[in-house]
Amino acid sequence: MTLHPTTGFTSTDAAAIVSRLRATFRTGRTRPLAWRKDQLIRLRDLLTEHRDAIADALHIDLRKNRAEVDTMEIGGTLREIDDCLAHMDTWLTPRDVPVPVLLPRGTTARTAYEPLGVTLVISAWNYPVNLLLVPVVGALAAGNAVLIKPAEHAVATSALLAELLPRYLDNDATAVVEGGAEETTLLLAQRFDHIFYTGNSAVGRTVMTAAAANLTPVTLELGGKSPVFVDRDIDLRVVAERLVLTKFTNAGQTCVAPDYILTDPGTAVALEAALTSALRDRFGQDPQASNRYGRIVNERHFDRLTALLGSGRTVTGGRTDRADRYIAPTVLADVAADDPVMGEEIFGPLLPILTVADLDAAIIFINDRDKPLALYAFTGNDTTRRRLAAETSSGGINFGWPMHQLTVPGLPFGGVGESGMGHYRGPHSVETFSHRKSILDVPLA
Ligand code: NAD
Repeated sequence: MTLHPTTGFTSTDAAAIVSRLRATFRTGRTRPLAWRKDQLIRLRDLLTEHRDAIADALHIDLRKNRAEVDTMEIGGTLREIDDCLAHMDTWLTPRDVPVPVLLPRGTTARTAYEPLGVTLVISAWNYPVNLLLVPVVGALAAGNAVLIKPAEHAVATSALLAELLPRYLDNDATAVVEGGAEETTLLLAQRFDHIFYTGNSAVGRTVMTAAAANLTPVTLELGGKSPVFVDRDIDLRVVAERLVLTKFTNAGQTCVAPDYILTDPGTAVALEAALTSALRDRFGQDPQASNRYGRIVNERHFDRLTALLGSGRTVTGGRTDRADRYIAPTVLADVAADDPVMGEEIFGPLLPILTVADLDAAIIFINDRDKPLALYAFTGNDTTRRRLAAETSSGGINFGWPMHQLTVPGLPFGGVGESGMGHYRGPHSVETFSHRKSILDVPLA
């Protein structure tokens, strides 16, 4: 069942949907592994049968190119589905726990995952397929009913998924509600058994406040500024290539995109040249004409980003075209810590370079700010690796290839502090969307 905002979504509608999902959950229909797997297979069918339509919608919303859609949006979700299908039997197997001798012989103790009930998944617009469906995979694999709220700013993708999902999934146990703040507020007034939210931290606070009324647990997948430390005496050609490939994917609108670079003054100068050359290799002389390069999601974000362009000195890029929502891939040097571009998560194609004297100064700089979702470092030095891992805190730390932590299915994904709470993907999603129940069985005689 899908409700579109233009139909006038009300709190009565929200209550009715949640109560229908709860009634289904109570029948026990979502518990058998066979039902869960069937839903995942249906989701896989949806993605494979509608690849082209999904790619078209993502092109309209964000000018995503086909390779990016195939690998990150559809591919990433399919990999998650396949990983779950291959391993969920094992993940969900109850685990025995040793029993102390003070209990009678024959006593058993174990833990078993039980589904939570009715879950709500709220997605952000920047990867509107992956960020919506990967949590849904976890919620279904764990045996829950799910209310699915796509991201309204990815207008075409939201509409397409709202049309397709009900054609594939069990409509008594899942529902899609499109809409923005107004509709989501009505949903959040309902009682859920888990809320999984991806987006900015201001709304994260709103979600958590609403959840508190019902003691509903939340997973908050938020963002923040993910720093990149670049050590001296390393091959900057490789560094620049990898930074360009990741920072400027989806025009920088990625929660784990490198946000800014910290390096020493000498390396900064060499990196400026390396980045300029890597950008030309990837997007040509005119990135606006490159089919590899995306667009800013809407005018509001375009205006926000262009206001940040005045920070520092523009090394390369800087060109904008509002009618096309285009901002050139831009490198800014001589950026100061109090420049506007450092005042918020950039979430766009601007890459500032800041200089620090050494590793100690970099660690202080990082620790003086909110805990990032990701911390990246390029270094050939083991001590530097160890120190960064031990002396800073972030959702994840990655040496050598930004964003590629997402390609390892066994790694949990999530933030810490201001970058979020909880984590998901694979077995970590099962953990998130389940209650781990303890079961003790003592013989009567
Ligand atoms: P967004 O505008 O799509 O908002 C996210 C969701 O919140 C949407 O579904 C929207 O309908 C809902 N929403 C908006 N206002 C609301 C309100 N007042 N009450 C209730 N719900 C409301 O996305 P965004 O916030 O612009 O996303 C960008 C941010 O998300 C960045 O900070 C980025 O780093 C972060 N992000 C994090 C991850 C992650 O996995 N950790 C992934 C993507 C984006």
